[in-house]
Amino acid sequence: MNEQIARAAEILQASKFTTAYTGAGISVESGIPPFRGDGGLWSKYPPESLDIDYFLRDPEGSWKVIREIFFDFFKQTKYNQAHFLLAEMQKHGLIHRIITQNIDNLHQEAGSTQVFEFHGNSKSLICLVCLQAYHASEVDLSVLPPRCSCGGLLKPDFVFFGEPIPMDPLNAAHEAARLSDVFLIIGTTGEVMPANMIPPMAKANGAKIIEINPEESNYTRKITDVFLKGKATTMMQALYDALFSPPLENN
Ligand code: NAD
Repeated sequence: MNEQIARAAEILQASKFTTAYTGAGISVESGIPPFRGDGGLWSKYPPESLDIDYFLRDPEGSWKVIREIFFDFFKQTKYNQAHFLLAEMQKHGLIHRIITQNIDNLHQEAGSTQVFEFHGNSKSLICLVCLQAYHASEVDLSVLPPRCSCGGLLKPDFVFFGEPIPMDPLNAAHEAARLSDVFLIIGTTGEVMPANMIPPMAKANGAKIIEINPEESNYTRKITDVFLKGKATTMMQALYDALFSPPLENN
């Protein structure tokens, strides 16, 4: 593994433009479960609750699930060492853009900038009638569904199943796939479309792919050049140490 870490560090040091591409796995050690697998959110909640047609048919039912996952639960969570080290690497000019599938705001809370949220953010709500935006903290969720001052239905401003990807992050992701020498993929299965098409686009444009995940993903055997098998916090710490504390030279 040390060899793989050293190789990844070398690739990152040589890169002129590196994109970090993150998924639910980077937030697992903050206590937010991923969607899939044992203990994943879909083993407890029905995925239909986040389908846009279901939301419009039964906003109260959908909102009950949304409130429990994204408001009661997410608000107790904090960024972890992997988010923090990624932000530090960015401050040192080693990461230029972050494309995240997460909606938990933890990259920004850890100090990262240039964060493009492919699936939106759970901290803001939008009125489906007048498009007024609200920060989650200003909305009373004791009565569901919450409503705008105009009476319109409020929806969390993240992408539901059946909704298109917002143009800004989509363009930023495509641009990153064109510009990047390196994609650092952290904690994603690569199953969610169309987000999962971004790393292969980068690879086709010549980017090297470094991947951190305790399990193999859809990318590992297809496009990954350096696979750092392990948890995000452990592997990011090892990578950070290799980048910033090179071993002492022999006398
Ligand atoms: P996923 O749920 O499909 O897969 C999670 C991945 O993380 C898996 O490959 C797993 O092996 C890996 N993983 C588990 N523990 C890890 C750790 N400690 N360190 C590193 N990796 C670890 O997640 P996905 O591919 O990102 O897709 C799910 C979709 O669900 C995303 O589009 C996202 O919008 C959404 N989601 C977001 C959050 C969040 O905002 N934190 C949480 C759950 C789901």
